[in-house]
Amino acid sequence: MSVKVGLPRGMFYFDYFSLWKSFFNNLGVEVLISPKTNKEILDRGVNACVDESCLPVKVFHGHVDYLKDKVDYIFIPKIISIHKREYNCPKHLGLPDMVKNSIKGLPEIIDTEVNLRKSNKFLKKSIIETGRYFEKSDRKILNAFYDALKQYNNYLKMMTTGFISLDVLGKNADMKVIKNIIRKDNNRRILILGHSYNIYDQYINMELVKKLKDFKFDLITAEMIDEKKAREYAKKLPKRMFWTHGQRIIGAAYYLIEEKSISGIIYVSAFGCGLDSVFIDLIERKAKKAKIPFTLLTIDEQTGEAGVNTRLEAFTDMLDWRLKDESNFSTLW
Ligand code: SF4
Repeated sequence: MSVKVGLPRGMFYFDYFSLWKSFFNNLGVEVLISPKTNKEILDRGVNACVDESCLPVKVFHGHVDYLKDKVDYIFIPKIISIHKREYNCPKHLGLPDMVKNSIKGLPEIIDTEVNLRKSNKFLKKSIIETGRYFEKSDRKILNAFYDALKQYNNYLKMMTTGFISLDVLGKNADMKVIKNIIRKDNNRRILILGHSYNIYDQYINMELVKKLKDFKFDLITAEMIDEKKAREYAKKLPKRMFWTHGQRIIGAAYYLIEEKSISGIIYVSAFGCGLDSVFIDLIERKAKKAKIPFTLLTIDEQTGEAGVNTRLEAFTDMLDWRLKDESNFSTLW
């Protein structure tokens, strides 16, 4: 029987699932991904995690709890930094320790540290440390990783052409959500912003993508913007943005606002997220100057679907009214 590694479907899973899964598979390891978030997983997470945590961290605990009796290892890297001179939210680096303290009866946790703040060369150490659980040869471990990286880069390229992976959204979702990212002749285009785990986890954001598609809006997410382009626009901030997620989210928003390629912005944020409070303020000001409507959806475990539906309907109605008579409608929402 092959060794089985569990990947909890939460937090950085939404950025790196294709890389991690292929890497483990290339090492001959079976991967079990927890199911899409559902009520049971949310309840498990809320019960296991400390109250003060944000919703995505609670949900992540629920996914770990689901996997704990089904696998030999669970992969929860301690991701301190993924870019030179930049950081992630402290909750990302504290994640393995939080989980170990909160959930009893866990299998071995692979909690490799990833810290590229000083240099990318530290990545090699993290890769070998992870692969060493299953393979003695450094060369084989690195080959397994670089092969997985090729597939991951193809996946990233695919996203920049307007795709959202079925692995992320589930079988009923459209894969191709938009044809041309930059296009000024169509005003029914919404930029959905926020951390990947808030945008792509369709349970916690109450099927936002599906609902907006049902309203026949084209959707863009920050991941569809080439990273170099997003970073180029993030440089327009008065001070250097040292949060990696901020570079991506703010840079993508600035780019699309300046290109006048969107008709509205919806920001999905977890209640109490400190990073988001900074990103939201910067993006909202820029959108206001460009007269692009902006709305914020704050989510926590108490958020009701009816309230979200009402806000989405009102926001999309307002975008349509603006198309008919732009000068009469406020961008504040
Ligand atoms: S960035 Fe915000 S939503 Fe993400 S883990 Fe940190 S506090 Fe939670």
